[in-house]
Amino acid sequence: MKELFYYQDAMMQHFTAEVIRTGIENTRPYIVLSNTAFYPTGGGQPHDTGIIDGLPVVDVEKVDDEIRHYIEGDLDALEGPRGEVTGRIDWKRRFDHMQQHCGQHILTASFVELFNLPTVSFHLGTELVTIDIEASEITEEQLAQVEKRANEIVLENRPIETKWVSKEELSDFPLRKDVSVDEDIRLVIIPDYDYNGCGGTHPTSTGQVGLIKIMGTEKMKKNTRVSFVCGNRVLNQLAMRKNVLSDIARQLSVPEESAAIALRKVLDDGKTMEKALEDAKNQLLEYEAKELVAASVDTGLIAASFENRSVQDLQKLGRAVISQFGEGICLLVAENEDKLQFIAARGSGVEKSMKEISGAILPLMNGKGGGNDAFVQGGGEKSISAKELLAEMKKLV
Ligand SMILES: [Zn+2]
Repeated sequence: MKELFYYQDAMMQHFTAEVIRTGIENTRPYIVLSNTAFYPTGGGQPHDTGIIDGLPVVDVEKVDDEIRHYIEGDLDALEGPRGEVTGRIDWKRRFDHMQQHCGQHILTASFVELFNLPTVSFHLGTELVTIDIEASEITEEQLAQVEKRANEIVLENRPIETKWVSKEELSDFPLRKDVSVDEDIRLVIIPDYDYNGCGGTHPTSTGQVGLIKIMGTEKMKKNTRVSFVCGNRVLNQLAMRKNVLSDIARQLSVPEESAAIALRKVLDDGKTMEKALEDAKNQLLEYEAKELVAASVDTGLIAASFENRSVQDLQKLGRAVISQFGEGICLLVAENEDKLQFIAARGSGVEKSMKEISGAILPLMNGKGGGNDAFVQGGGEKSISAKELLAEMKKLV
């Protein structure tokens, strides 16, 4: 283990090694080498990718005691002499993993140093990195202090050392938490700051982490999940946020720093307008009701049909009519695309049940309805016209 290239030199980007054997696992061809700089999935750190003699390495896993490099393509295509091959790591991906992984060590150490809050788990995702902190709540102020402290450690560019120790030697080090293995224990050490049992790859100094930025928190039962990014990911996040914010500010015609206040105002104005529009619509309905009542006051039956009018509108109009004319019955029908909708309402001085009307007409349109003796509404298929339906309803009054 100690001899593995990625442990000997975490900065190794290419290497040569002997092919020990090749094989196929569930249709996935793989190569086992005498040594490798390809890091296999483990300890929360994703595997490396890259190329072995021109063949893309798409996955690297430790199976039993060997490291399998899963390749895309034909094993027979291995170039050069069968024995020796050249491997090259996708360095952008690997270095990113090292920045995130090391940033996690530093952030975890800062939470303990400042607030004695341990990390219980770690996940290195493709966009964000998360740690679960054993705390039901972490304040913004605490996050700011932890982030500040972590970035101080980065800026101090402290060396990162690794050490192989025996179980007995462990007691010489102030470890963050118990180590799960019994032999070949690997410690990753930021002197006088962080001592950790860890099998991952790390840069050689904290400065290479670049920057650590906390992006947010989320409650996870008794823990708090803290998401963050390090190194180049900070730039990617900044670029994305810069684009979004610039776009918002441009659309609002305000400087970026005023965008939130300006957006709040636009939303508030929108709500005020909506309310004003609603009030105006209600007033119009009142006028419309007045006209309907005036035209039919002699018969006591107010009936009208419409095109494209919502059943909510019919309900409002119907209520307005009977509130103005307590001795009347109001029948309203609307044709909406392939549907028919209606309401029937009676004034307070009328005794006839409106349910009788809906009960008689719903079968005509294969419809459904609801309501009570004083007010019913319903709708169904447009098997007859709105005018015909209205005529049927009038007959029932
Ligand atoms: Zn580590």
